[in-house]
Amino acid sequence: MHEWALAESVVETVKRHLEGRDSPKLRSVTLLFGELQSIDQEIFEEGIKNLLMGEAFGSEVFHVERERAVFRCNRCESQWGLEDRPDLQEDEREAIHFVPEAAHVYMRCPSCSSPDFRVEKGRGVLVKSIVFDENLVNEKDLVNEKLVGEKDTSE
Ligand SMILES: [Zn+2]
Repeated sequence: MHEWALAESVVETVKRHLEGRDSPKLRSVTLLFGELQSIDQEIFEEGIKNLLMGEAFGSEVFHVERERAVFRCNRCESQWGLEDRPDLQEDEREAIHFVPEAAHVYMRCPSCSSPDFRVEKGRGVLVKSIVFDENLVNEKDLVNEKLVGEKDTSE
C-alpha cells in the first residue's frame, strides 16, 4: 500500500525539520500531489493520523495541493497540459492518469506532431513547504523519487 509508505516519508520529513529547534510550533505542511500520481487521499490521511498518534502535532496541519501534469516535446521544446487537449477521449484521459506512459499512445506534440516527448511535471509527490512559527522552509523532491520507484515495482 504505497499511501502508507508515502505518509511515513512525509511524517519523517516534517520531523527532521523540527529537530534541533526550540519548542517549534508546526503551523502547516503543504504537499503537492502530481495529477498523474494515483494516490487514494483517504487512505493517505488515515496513514498520517495513525503515524501522528502521540506526536506534538495533528493531521489538521496537512494540506494537499494538486500539481497539473506538464508534457514537453523533446524535439521542439513546446509544452502542454492535459487541459490543452480537448481532443482526448475520456477513457484516454483516464489511461494517462493511471499509466503516464500511455500518453505516448494517445498524444503527439501539438506543435510539431512528434511522438517524442516527456512528462515534465505531475508524476511525483513533493513536500512543498513546512511552516512553523515565523520560519518558512521549502523542501522539494524529497518524497518524489522514492514513491515512484516503489510504485513501479509493486504494481
Ligand atoms: Zn514538438
